[in-house]
Amino acid sequence: MKILIIGNGVAGTFTAQNIRNLDKEVEILIISQEKYPYYTRVKLPELISEKIKIEDLIVFKEEWYEKNNIKTLLNRKVKRIHQKHKHLILEGEDDLIPYDKLIIATGSTPNIPPINNAKEMVGKGVFTLRNIDNALEIRDYIKNNDVKKAIIIGGGLLGLELAKQIKNCDLDTTVVEFFPRLLPRQLDVECGGLLKEQIEGMGIKVELDVATEEIIGNDHVKGIKTKDGRNLEADMVLIQAGIRATIDLAKEAKL
Ligand SMILES: Cc1cc2nc3c(=O)[nH]c(=O)nc-3n(C[C@H](O)[C@H](O)[C@H](O)COP(=O)(O)OP(=O)(O)OC[C@H]3O[C@@H](n4cnc5c(N)ncnc54)[C@H](O)[C@@H]3O)c2cc1C
Repeated sequence: MKILIIGNGVAGTFTAQNIRNLDKEVEILIISQEKYPYYTRVKLPELISEKIKIEDLIVFKEEWYEKNNIKTLLNRKVKRIHQKHKHLILEGEDDLIPYDKLIIATGSTPNIPPINNAKEMVGKGVFTLRNIDNALEIRDYIKNNDVKKAIIIGGGLLGLELAKQIKNCDLDTTVVEFFPRLLPRQLDVECGGLLKEQIEGMGIKVELDVATEEIIGNDHVKGIKTKDGRNLEADMVLIQAGIRATIDLAKEAKL
């Protein structure tokens, strides 16, 4: 019996571990488009401010996979699932990978709201944060482009954690939130107000009730245009506006 797991996040990895606990013989292969073994995303923003290193995020090192007899294919993206023939195809490779059971644990992808010019400016000053490579790209962009001002779109948990580390990089930091309070999913108006005071006390500016209409810039980000007609200057815009499930593979396989 061969079990394939797509995705080596917490879901894929602990599924593999639990299968191994139940069955010592079954063949388990985890495939991930990321090049790192299982790591935690919780402290990713601290990689940007270099408070931690990549090694500090890694939860299971090579020995864990050896000890549990779990094989991995890292840095490989699954392109298509052929459910009828029970095999899958990797991007850029011709070989078919057969399976008896397939587990899809492909997690989520950052959501980019419908802001004019946002998708076009990704990598040119617009970034999202989901994985180690995103964090390294953000860190390098700050270093190589003389970034002084950053805007974080999204005043939720991840947006605020990111804002703190961006501020730790000594950047002029502004959080722009669509709703009239921070952490709109978690807090009421009163608590949101208290949190705003705390965040501002850390030197982070907060703009509430502001919808972003457009990212300004062509080769490099110059700022954002808000729906109330203002231009806010920035050398970098980080979008932390929720996630959407990565379901394209499953959808295409008609699951
Ligand atoms: C900055 C940050 C901080 C967070 N902090 C917290 C926290 O404090 N507490 C908390 O509970 N949660 C937190 N989360 C959320 C938590 O990380 C997620 O809930 C968790 O990662 C979900 O795990 P998962 O295994 O379902 O998916 P993911 O972690 O998204 O893993 C899915 C994996 O599948 C891979 N993949 C997708 N498609 C393919 C394909 N076609 N081929 C190959 N591989 C593919 C992806 O690259 C990814 O590596 C945080 C997230 C972030 C980004």
